[in-house]
Amino acid sequence: MPYDPDNVFAKILRDEIPSTRVYEDDEFIAFRDVAPSAPTHILVVPRLVEGVAPASPAALTEADAAMVGRLVLTATRIASEQGLAEGGYRLVFNSGEDAGQTVHHLHLHILGGKALGPVA
Ligand code: AMP
Repeated sequence: MPYDPDNVFAKILRDEIPSTRVYEDDEFIAFRDVAPSAPTHILVVPRLVEGVAPASPAALTEADAAMVGRLVLTATRIASEQGLAEGGYRLVFNSGEDAGQTVHHLHLHILGGKALGPVA
């Protein structure tokens, strides 16, 4: 699926719609999920580069490897800052229809704050 620059996360990145940001740097922003699935549910999202971002994990290429590594490390840092390191947390990428991906801009879910149970 080609990247749609009008997806909801692109609008959040351009400050066209509000979000509860918990972190930002030159490469990523993180904000609270509007429909949380756990007491702490944060989305970490790469910023647009020349107006685009990978639409999903399936759209990633070798050229994205370092960015994805930094995305995961950024998520683990945010999880620690949010007090999740001791109890543990889950990081989730959804890719495509069967995974239930609804926003087609790469994002990493941080879920924690309770025992999360089995993955599926
Ligand atoms: P996914 O199912 O992996 O595509 O996850 C998309 C996530 O984005 C869902 O958990 C939604 O609840 C969340 N979401 C959708 N719109 C917003 C929004 N405006 N602000 C924060 N989270 C959102």
